[in-house]
Amino acid sequence: MGCNLQQKFQSQKMLVGLLGRNNMTLTKIIFNKVQLSLRGTVRLLATVPESSKAPGRVHGGYNFELTDEQKEYQALSRKFAREEVIPVARHYDETGEYPVEILKKAWKLGLMNHGIPEKYGGAGLSHLGGCLITEELAYGCTGIATAMEANNLGQAPVILAGNEEQKKKYLTRLVEEPLMCAYCVTEPGAGSDVAGIKTKVEKKGDRWILNGQKMWITNGGKANWYFVLARSNPDPKCPANKSLTAFIVDADLPGVSVGRKEQNMGQRTSDTRGVVFEDVEVPNENVLLGEGAGFKIAMGAFDKTRPPVAAGATGLAQRALDEATKYSLERKTFGKFISEHQAVQFMLAEMTIGVETSRLAYLRAAWEIDQGRRNTYWASIAKALASDVANKCATDAVQIFGGNGFNCDYPVEKLMRDAKIYQIYEGTSQIQRVIISREHLKKFKEIV
Ligand SMILES: Cc1cc2nc3c(=O)[nH]c(=O)nc-3n(C[C@H](O)[C@H](O)[C@H](O)COP(=O)(O)OP(=O)(O)OC[C@H]3O[C@@H](n4cnc5c(N)ncnc54)[C@H](O)[C@@H]3O)c2cc1C
Repeated sequence: MGCNLQQKFQSQKMLVGLLGRNNMTLTKIIFNKVQLSLRGTVRLLATVPESSKAPGRVHGGYNFELTDEQKEYQALSRKFAREEVIPVARHYDETGEYPVEILKKAWKLGLMNHGIPEKYGGAGLSHLGGCLITEELAYGCTGIATAMEANNLGQAPVILAGNEEQKKKYLTRLVEEPLMCAYCVTEPGAGSDVAGIKTKVEKKGDRWILNGQKMWITNGGKANWYFVLARSNPDPKCPANKSLTAFIVDADLPGVSVGRKEQNMGQRTSDTRGVVFEDVEVPNENVLLGEGAGFKIAMGAFDKTRPPVAAGATGLAQRALDEATKYSLERKTFGKFISEHQAVQFMLAEMTIGVETSRLAYLRAAWEIDQGRRNTYWASIAKALASDVANKCATDAVQIFGGNGFNCDYPVEKLMRDAKIYQIYEGTSQIQRVIISREHLKKFKEIV
């Protein structure tokens, strides 16, 4: 099953809007190629282009060239970010409004839910392909990109562990209508320590009775359904990998309520809320994988979603670098452009190093999972690196702007506010380092 006809038609209309009416041929080519590439296997790093092969020489190792199709949808999302997102990003940041219109346009173009398999109506894009889109959208506004990305986070456990019926029901719904979903794990008393969650479920016949409170849930007030992790075994001695069960919970079930929209430092358009479950009756068919499998599913989803978080942070860092570079070529002090002062040049150089290495890190993390390999190590490296780089780049961009950098009429103070959350959500920077050191030590012990 591919995109439905209406969706195809709407997407093509959107492309006409983006590329202009005089460019119908390009519109058609891009549309068809995007459709194709969204379905095709991403080949980055996997193939060596013929043109790069020299006779008599052995070529192996990595290939850093994107396929033509990848370049095309990267260009499409770049164009969308520049023409549709950047002009309205300040408005959404100031008002904190949810970016419904932007989300609908992105949905029509296939820039949302791209990881849903074709079988359920999605594009079935690889993780690497999805990350390329995320970086471009985040360049425009990470608040808007996070609202979109939260859908991928909510879907990830269902794609990973859902049965046929669950996938058909809950994934297809997101492709047929521009609906949101959310990932509900964190609670007021437990974030990093997922095993410490208190939300509980009790089995009653063919239903489960869910009680508890989740906190900091992105898309909390906008979701059509939630992925929810809850304690099914109250025995404190029972380990997390047996005591927690995962559910898909429809947002309109009696007993589900949402809190106020939280006023956050950055990414202010994104909808972050508490979600309360009070005697919510969840049918047994909404259990993912089985009783006690929840912890593994919730953690497994992060392997898939941390590379795109790193891609988002890279998009923000690239934006900070571009804004700072542009400003340095316009602003003069002591009779010369500030780009001519070595101290400023070196800041730009450091930012450039950070952006390029973050990009390589998220591509590697995404590529590993596309090869069907466990990527926990790479996903945490990418997330930790890109989050720190985003914060450093945003801070340095403000520095290069001087006093103007501290002011809301200029673009970089928003980047500094928006960057901080990358070191906190989907596992803090400290937790990433806990994971990296654990994985490193495990590998090391296996070798010696
Ligand atoms: C805007 C926003 C959106 C979010 N979206 C979602 C969402 O959609 N779904 C969801 O489930 N959650 C979401 N979260 C929650 C987020 O994942 C948690 O805030 C995060 O995991 C940290 O948990 P915590 O806030 O409880 O901090 P804590 O776990 O209390 O940590 C506090 C500090 O202690 C450090 N620390 C904790 N344990 C260790 C350790 N073992 N070693 C070293 N340092 C440690 C942390 O790194 C941190 O610096 C969101 C949060 C925010 C702010």
